[in-house]
Parts: sequence; structure tokens; C-alpha cells
Amino acid sequence: MLPFFLLIKVVEQVPIAISITDKKANILYINQAFTDTTGYRPAEILGRNESELSAKSTPRQVYYDLWHTITRKKIWRGRLINKNKNGAPYLAELTIAPMQDEQGKITHYIGMHRDITQTH
Ligand code: FAD
Repeated sequence: MLPFFLLIKVVEQVPIAISITDKKANILYINQAFTDTTGYRPAEILGRNESELSAKSTPRQVYYDLWHTITRKKIWRGRLINKNKNGAPYLAELTIAPMQDEQGKITHYIGMHRDITQTH
């Protein structure tokens, strides 16, 4: 079993943008790769909503599908048009997974994303 501090380091240093949110998508934690990808430091984005990242050009249906999936305890994978802190748009490939307590109740969501603009 890995020591706890090592698990924390893994999340902090893994090269994929990770955010942990409450049930309304308010951001509670971001890792270093999230800062590298979006330009936001923790003090600038914690407590704000993931919708801050939206470039407002993804079709509504995609967000509907996203929420329909994750609120049913399933994992959603898809692409969203995001913008970074400077307002520059980028294509984000996301995986969003619900986190559940022992009773199976959703407590948080974990978001993982990569900027795939260059590959498209
Ligand atoms: P919203 O007001 O969020 O509404 C869009 C629709 O989503 C609503 O009509 C409703 O059907 C549904 N909805 C919204 N909130 C809830 C809720 N709490 N429970 C059930 N249904 C709900 N969006 C991005 O654009 N980029 C990201 O990188 C991104 N990452 C996310 C990561 C995580 C972990 C989570 C949970 C969400 C993420 N989102 C992301 C989605 C984001 O929270 C917004 O829903 C989205 O950006 C649309 O914002 P909006 O203000 O236009 O619409």
C-alpha cells in the first residue's frame, strides 16, 4: 500500500488537469496540471464554478448529456470548448466521474481534462 503522502503527490503531479468539485460543480481542488492548462492558480478559481471555463460555444445538449450522465452515477467522456484565464479558447477532452460515499450517495465530482487543440 502506498503511503498517503505519495498518493497526494501523484494527484498533484499527474500530467492531466484534475479538479474536484461539489455537487454543483463549484471547484474545491485543482492540481498543478490544471493550473498549467488553464492559467488559473488555486486562489483564483477555488470556490468558483467549472462553467467559468466554458467558452460559451459548446451546444447546450452536450452539457445536458454531461449532467444527465454524471447525476446517474455514470462516467461522462466528451469534448468541450473551454477558454483559459486569458480568454483563449481550447478544445478540452474531459472525463467526469462522480465520487460516492459508503451509501452510494454522490458527494463530489472529479474532472480530468487535456487540451487537445493541437491534435485537431
Ligand atoms: P449551467 O447553469 O451549468 O446549466 C447547463 C445545464 O446543465 C442545466 O440546464 C442543467 O440541465 C444541467 N445542470 C447544471 N448544473 C447541474 C447540477 N448541479 N445538477 C444537475 N444538472 C445540472 N464545463 C465546461 O464548460 N468546461 C469544463 O471544463 C467543465 N468541467 C467540469 C468538471 C466537473 C467535475 C463538473 C461537475 C462540471 C464541469 N463542467 C464544465 C460543466 C459546468 O459545470 C457547466 O454545467 C457548464 O459549463 C455549462 O455552464 P452554464 O452556466 O452555461 O450552464
